[in-house]
Formats: sequence, C-alpha cells, structure tokens
Amino acid sequence: MKIRDVRLKVIFICLILAFCGFLWGDWTIQKRGRIAEFEPRGIHELKIQPRVMECLERLRTRVKYPIIVTSGYRTEEHNEEVGGAPHSYHLKGMAIDCVVNDPDWSLNALASEGLKCGFSTAIIYSTHVHFDIREKGLGIRYAK
Ligand SMILES: [Zn+2]
Repeated sequence: MKIRDVRLKVIFICLILAFCGFLWGDWTIQKRGRIAEFEPRGIHELKIQPRVMECLERLRTRVKYPIIVTSGYRTEEHNEEVGGAPHSYHLKGMAIDCVVNDPDWSLNALASEGLKCGFSTAIIYSTHVHFDIREKGLGIRYAK
C-alpha cells in the first residue's frame, strides 16, 4: 500500500506513536509495579494482598498514567532497613507507596483519587503517597 497524501502519512505516524506510548505505559506498570516491586527481596513469590492490586488497577485506570510503585510488601528486615513503622501495613502486604509519572498529578490529587479506588488510608509524604487497606481507614493524612 502506498500512501501519497502527506496528511495521511502524518496521521498514520501519529497513530503508531500513540500505540507505542500505550504499550510503553503498560509495560512500565508491569515491570515496576507488578513484578519487580512486589517481590520481596530474595523471595520469588507475590505477597501483596489481591485487594491492594485491585485498588491499584482501578487507580491506574482513573489516573491514565503509569503509576510507579516505590514500595510494596516488605519483610521484617527490609522494613527495618528502610525505617518503616514496626507494625507497618507493608509487612502484611496491605500497603503500597507510589507516585504518578506525570507532572500534572500532585501527590494530593493522587491521594484523593486513591481513596475513591478503595484504599482506606492515604498518607502523603514529600516524595510519595502511602496507600493501605487497614480496616478503620484514616482517610488522607500528612506524614509528620
Ligand atoms: Zn508506605
């Protein structure tokens, strides 16, 4: 097939680029969010609770940008290393820390969107938002 019209060529190239962008976004959450970050160090088994993943998928759909998970399930040792709270919900696979890979999404906006997606608590830190599914949710809080 030969495309002679320049405008058609431009539209065709734009469609290819948009599709690549879509694949790239999905790849990013799969690589960073699903596989690498949810595997506790040295243990090749997913320990994050399915409900957390459901909330995260909903959040990803609403945000429309790749969500980068910076922390998921933690072992006791890992939790100590990163200075986590002694009874952190990360230890139970009930929490994730994340950011959105887009400058238009503030951490405040991400936190309130997360609560709409089923997380019960959102704690806003200077670099990320902590979400968890504790029973008696705290809503949005700011880290001290
Ligand atoms: Zn956290």
